[in-house]
Amino acid sequence: MANAANSRSSPSKISVIGAGTVGSTLAYTLIVERVAGEVVLVDIDRDRALGEARDINHAMPFSAPTTVSAGDYEDSRDSDIIVITAGAAQKKGESRLSLVERNVKIYRDIVPRLVKGGSNAIILIVSNPVDVLTYVTLKLSELPRQRVIGSGTVLDTARFRYELSARAGVDPRNVHAYIVGEHGDTEVPIWSLANIAGIGFPAFCSQCGRGCSKRDREGVFDRVKNAAYDIIRLKGATYFAIALGATRMIEAILRDQQTVMTASILLQGEHGIRDVCLSLPVQLGREGLKRVLEIPLTEDEEEALRKSAATLRNALDSVNF
Ligand code: NAD
Repeated sequence: MANAANSRSSPSKISVIGAGTVGSTLAYTLIVERVAGEVVLVDIDRDRALGEARDINHAMPFSAPTTVSAGDYEDSRDSDIIVITAGAAQKKGESRLSLVERNVKIYRDIVPRLVKGGSNAIILIVSNPVDVLTYVTLKLSELPRQRVIGSGTVLDTARFRYELSARAGVDPRNVHAYIVGEHGDTEVPIWSLANIAGIGFPAFCSQCGRGCSKRDREGVFDRVKNAAYDIIRLKGATYFAIALGATRMIEAILRDQQTVMTASILLQGEHGIRDVCLSLPVQLGREGLKRVLEIPLTEDEEEALRKSAATLRNALDSVNF
């Protein structure tokens, strides 16, 4: 049954810190999808935020009334959700982890301003390296793990589902498969749980008839893992899919949908890992993180997940967190 939280016209306020390609595309998808009642764009480049807000406002007659404005940190104070997309982005051939020092420095400036005087917002981290910055935000804000969530491998999981769907010729919404661990070079595909319409591999393969080899399967994961490198080489940045992915996370939170997504959260002993943020399938609802799902992994998958966690712990150590 529909209730106020599920209503398409919920007047929720979202602040987006960083109005670059990802932040502005997110503001746009939030109004197209009618998820937000109000969007505030905050950027060190005030003109950029102002220009993006004006451009998006002119789309309103084709969507629904929403307020999109450029603002300052004070204007983000009573937000339901604050999304941070500010910071340096990867250049051609650069890894996400190489951004760590630059973006931790920026977060040291931003996060205290966002929580100054207290905030009830849930904070969603999108800037890279997203797992490191989610942990840094938790520590700087002193908020509970329920309220500081990273987009993590939400995008990688979408890429995995898309690649599998293209290979199998099936609607990607019928493909269920996770990428867990780091949003980056050590991310882990969970082949043991991947399925199409409930039918696992290799059972699905025997009825699909396309005759995929082990090499084809590895090719699927290579395309997922290297997608950002490929897209950045081709067009300089990635922003459409992450914007819609973050919009889905925001919708799940605001409308208390209990949606399962592979978000980056603080681990507290799951899979024997603690004191690092990385992605596992979690349920998202009005309080942010509702539950971390317990997923059975093969020994190889557990090992790869621990390796991913160790890489992220090293990155955190390198910036003294
Ligand atoms: P961009 O360069 O287009 O935009 C970054 C914006 O941050 C700029 O407008 C800049 O002025 C602003 N900024 C910098 N320092 C700031 C500060 N102290 N306060 C406020 N604003 C500040 O970059 P982009 O393509 O939008 O990417 C943004 C981030 O998102 C990057 O770190 C990128 O790697 C990351 N990203 C993450 C994912 C994901 O899946 N998590 C996907 C794509 C991009």
